[in-house]
Amino acid sequence: MSAAFGKCYDPSGARHGIPTFPWKYAPDGYATRRQLRAQGLRPGGQPVAAQVMRRSRRRKGGVAVAYLYRTDLAKPVRPMTSRRCGALALAMLARRTCPVCRVVYGYCLPTSLGMCLPCHDSTSSTAPPPSATTRPRGGIDDGQG
Ligand SMILES: [Zn+2]
Repeated sequence: MSAAFGKCYDPSGARHGIPTFPWKYAPDGYATRRQLRAQGLRPGGQPVAAQVMRRSRRRKGGVAVAYLYRTDLAKPVRPMTSRRCGALALAMLARRTCPVCRVVYGYCLPTSLGMCLPCHDSTSSTAPPPSATTRPRGGIDDGQG
């Protein structure tokens, strides 16, 4: 056991190129990608800082290696960027906007109708509604079509 331990214990990286520790003997501040993920973190583009080794019958060479990353350089997983947020908001806005009267509602319009209920009622009914209802045009420019 001590011989295998010494083979895997190379904190200076002289033997393996990068600091190497036996399995489960990694120092504080290092974590595998999976361990980072469990903490809601990701490597964030940093290089491999160290590795842990253990004996494995399945792996070629009888050694399994897991790479370690520095937790102080890790970054949060999938930050909600403004672009993602904006695209999502636009998609939701399109679903809440009536294509006929351009009124934005506080709920998603029924896709079966393709328009808001007042527009659907006005198109389905023979008698057109009185045109006294003013549409909110202030602020929004219709130039973009
Ligand atoms: Zn409408």
